[in-house]
Amino acid sequence: MNVFLAIDLGAGSGRVIAGETDNKDLRLEEIHRFDNPGTDLPGGSFWNLVGLFRDIQEGLRIAQSRYGKRIVAIGIDTWGCDFGLLDAHGRLLGLPHQYRDPRHEGMAEAMEKLMPEAEVYRHTGITSNFYNSSLHLLAEKKIDSPALAAATDLLFVPDILAYWLCGKKAVERTVASTSQLLDPGTGDWSWDVIDALGLPRDIFGEIVAPGTVLGPLRTEVARVTGLEGVPVVASASHDTASAVAGIPMEGDDRLWLSSGTWSIMGLETAEPIRTDEALAARCCNELGVDGSVRFLKNIAGLWLIQECRRQWAIEGEELGYAELARLAGEADPLTAFIDPDDPIFAAPGDMPGRIRDYCAKTGQTVPETKGRILRVATESLALKYRVVLERFRSLSGKSFDRLHAGGGGIQNTFLAQSTADAAGIEVVAGPVEATSCGNLIVQMIATGHLPDLAAGRKLIRDSFEFQTYTPRDTATWDEAYERFRKLL
Ligand code: ADP
Repeated sequence: MNVFLAIDLGAGSGRVIAGETDNKDLRLEEIHRFDNPGTDLPGGSFWNLVGLFRDIQEGLRIAQSRYGKRIVAIGIDTWGCDFGLLDAHGRLLGLPHQYRDPRHEGMAEAMEKLMPEAEVYRHTGITSNFYNSSLHLLAEKKIDSPALAAATDLLFVPDILAYWLCGKKAVERTVASTSQLLDPGTGDWSWDVIDALGLPRDIFGEIVAPGTVLGPLRTEVARVTGLEGVPVVASASHDTASAVAGIPMEGDDRLWLSSGTWSIMGLETAEPIRTDEALAARCCNELGVDGSVRFLKNIAGLWLIQECRRQWAIEGEELGYAELARLAGEADPLTAFIDPDDPIFAAPGDMPGRIRDYCAKTGQTVPETKGRILRVATESLALKYRVVLERFRSLSGKSFDRLHAGGGGIQNTFLAQSTADAAGIEVVAGPVEATSCGNLIVQMIATGHLPDLAAGRKLIRDSFEFQTYTPRDTATWDEAYERFRKLL
């Protein structure tokens, strides 16, 4: 059995996962898990990239001791947007800033003057959001950043880590597509936008497709990890791109949901959708595997439940996620709704209290028990999914009769069933580890162990459990949807 290693980094924690496979069955094992705390320092909020790199090396070392020569390749996926600047000697010019870094403040307005958002959208298919690399680079330009002036290369976080592992500098396309500086039609940099922002053209280097073999581990890394000669693959380096690759969709109408702390719903399509309607709906065009476009929208997610759980733990009651889903399922249905994307739910805090306040302010029945609060949050999330789904229907002209959901959030079976009910659509849920699965199959394709994405998705389908949820009580939910729409 061959082993492929997926390094999966989130904005909070990271993991090294081993995928053991005979090309017919894929089994996952978590080898090493570590924190990835962003740190506020004078001058900004940063990522401790050296610390992360050391943890990655530690994970690789443990993997080597467990699997030895069976390890075939290594791939990295991370959150999007964040980047570092390098000089001509390959040295990183300062720690990468976190996308939350306040340097973005005022930059959307500044960018609007240089190129209006509608025009940026026509070029990049990305709406202006505080986390886009474009705005953070503009902030550096505005302060005449010495790093920007001295830089010869811009690399995104997974690109930097891959460079440190194997010594090859390359910008991977799926992560670059989150920057608002790439044209999803050509897959290359959007020079119009780069020029409009006055950014130095020469830092934007070669873009490689997901599934490009970059090269073997550097001698120093091979020495520390024991993994001599093992190649690093530029996998689908943006974690959502890996997640979408790892959700085994079939047929023409590919509607997916990546469900975790946040929910991202999207279509897998061949061409970007950059119409005024798509911009008005705040949908983004990011790139995926095999030249696909991920036409998507961010929606609030299980963050609401996570924060309820945290608050109740502070108050002295520790509850597991399965228990929370059960409590929601036992409470009275459809008593009140919230808009899960309302800004009052965005920051950490007393989520149960905020849900109660929202219901009180909007003249609805105030949920008092834990079960009722969770039920309001979960049903509202499901109804919000329907709002987005209806928009995708009108934007794409497709009807969609199945939603493919993957990620940790699908373990909340009450939410999965509510989604099927609210949206009147069959929900096929699996796998929980969609991101790692996607990362691994892209490596397998890159190294000639699988012919293509379809074969990779078949491997995932054959290896994991999937649950199908069919819609129930359609009339009741249609009526609830009308009430929910009025609330928005
Ligand atoms: P992230 O997006 O942070 O990687 P995950 O994909 O790990 O998040 O999903 C985490 C979410 O999944 C949690 O917030 C929780 O609501 C949900 N979850 C995890 N395990 C369970 C479970 N056993 N039952 C119900 N929900 C679960």
